[in-house]
Amino acid sequence: MSNENAAPVVSNFIRNVIDTDLASGKHPRTITRFPPEPNGYLHVGHAKSICLNFGIKEDYKGRGYASECNLRFDDTNPEKEEDEYVQAIQADVHWLGFEWDGGVRYASDYFETLYQYGVELINKGLAFVCELTPEEMRDYRGDFQKPGRNSPYRDRSVAENLDLFARMRAGEFPDGSRTLRLKIDMGSPNLNLRDPVIYRIRRAHHHRTGDAWCIYPMYDYTHCISDALEGITHSLCTLEFEDHRPLYDWVLDNITIPCHPQQIEFSRLELLYTVTSKRKLNQLVTEALVSGWDDPRMPTISGMRRRGYSPAGIRLFAERCGISKTPNVVDFSVLEGAVRETLEAEAPRVMAVLDPIKVTLTNFEAGVTGSRTAPFHPHHPEFGEREVPIAPVIYIERDDFSETPPPGWQRLTAGGEVRLRYSYVIKCDEVIKDATGKVVELKCSIDPATLGQNPVGRKVKGVIHWISAEHAVEAEVRLYERLFTVERPDAVRGDDGQYVDFKQFLNTESLKTVTGYVEAAVRDAAPETRYQFERLGYFVTDRVEHQPGRRVVFNRTVGLKDSWTK
Ligand code: ATP
Ligand code: MG
Repeated sequence: MSNENAAPVVSNFIRNVIDTDLASGKHPRTITRFPPEPNGYLHVGHAKSICLNFGIKEDYKGRGYASECNLRFDDTNPEKEEDEYVQAIQADVHWLGFEWDGGVRYASDYFETLYQYGVELINKGLAFVCELTPEEMRDYRGDFQKPGRNSPYRDRSVAENLDLFARMRAGEFPDGSRTLRLKIDMGSPNLNLRDPVIYRIRRAHHHRTGDAWCIYPMYDYTHCISDALEGITHSLCTLEFEDHRPLYDWVLDNITIPCHPQQIEFSRLELLYTVTSKRKLNQLVTEALVSGWDDPRMPTISGMRRRGYSPAGIRLFAERCGISKTPNVVDFSVLEGAVRETLEAEAPRVMAVLDPIKVTLTNFEAGVTGSRTAPFHPHHPEFGEREVPIAPVIYIERDDFSETPPPGWQRLTAGGEVRLRYSYVIKCDEVIKDATGKVVELKCSIDPATLGQNPVGRKVKGVIHWISAEHAVEAEVRLYERLFTVERPDAVRGDDGQYVDFKQFLNTESLKTVTGYVEAAVRDAAPETRYQFERLGYFVTDRVEHQPGRRVVFNRTVGLKDSWTK
């Protein structure tokens, strides 16, 4: 990221390993990879992993090493994978501002090579074709207390194994009837080493290889070999793979391959008030509990994008999460804080009124009452300026008026004064209500001497935003809140000790749609244009439904202040 505002690189234990390897000459450069399974859209946890892997490439490149980072789809599970996800994942990585080296890679590109390594392992007496059923296999496997037992098929001859493996590939056996397993150690305390299955028979259409294969390699076997084939130097993954590392190393130590990447594990990001699991996010989508993977309430990269988060905000967040082996539980407000911080300087500011009260300016005089211009950003004159027109009828925010104000109130009240931002001081002379007692209109007068001037003889402290009714543009504005009402929606247990369905904790108030009034300056904004609405927060024109000049649709990205931690 060649961003002059980018914070200096924060070191971590993984970078320390890399520094040592570069200094000792073990590697002349780094090659990392981001290896998603294309079974859903990426979420904020993946963003952390993307920033780590691509960030390493960029930093070490910056220091003169020819570092690279690959994008590889781990597509060994034909049933759950789809091309839609493959496309969406690439778009997400690009949008975050990263570029992979070489073409997009797929584990399925290596199916033939993986098969040949299976043959090599059989030839070395290190793999065998097993005919145990899944239930038998579980029984033979043992558990943490009980060692496993050798499969009765374990001592087949090499010739017989070669023949059976070839016939598995040729489609001679029904799905699930045979597997290829490694011969490691059924007595190992590490269950991953108890003769793990590396191939299964599954007649499923693959998104890339179609029906060419009816046997598919397992993740653990595929991953280490794919890494090695690509010359990966450091294979970074989350901590749940720590116990798989001995298997990763075993496979690479027992096949003829010139490269042995180092697997290093770090803790998964867990973001409070949401769920980070593609499987669970998928449920929200398929059960129509959200509008799609890119619903702005979703913690997906595409959801965050549609919500108005910027790539810089997400990258800043990832950096703040840090990389370590200790639990990485982060409050949602940290994400919002990072987003807010990056938008502060980036987003032009305009005024909008989302919950209006009509204000009639009783002494407005055409040709006499004047308007001022205002800059789009106080610290960025290059953003330009626009006129903020005043007219006989304006709207102010309902919240900015109170008939019975609390002590210290600086906004408008009956008989009180307030300044309209970039305009006059007004005084509320009359409050008009409907039959139910709701305030429907305020009659106010302008102090004509206060346009760009302090009032004479008194202080008016409060400043409120407002908008001219005749100049305003109507907008559909979506106000988002957190998607869940509890910190860990997927970790709540019921009386029976079982996990409660996380969907029970969906926040029913997480979306409110209102009609607001915004300055005409935003009418023609392109989709995905971010603004600060003064005093209200950051908003973005919706990527999908906003139509420049025709239909104005805004999503609230985040408020101006953290309203959660209090
Ligand atoms: P999910 O359970 O959501 O499907 P996953 O780990 O199965 O997640 P993959 O597509 O296999 O998803 O992951 C691609 C990469 O992203 C892996 O290296 C994985 O370790 C990393 N990753 C996934 N979730 C997180 C997370 N919450 N924090 C950090 N890294 C993550
Ligand atoms: Mg996975």
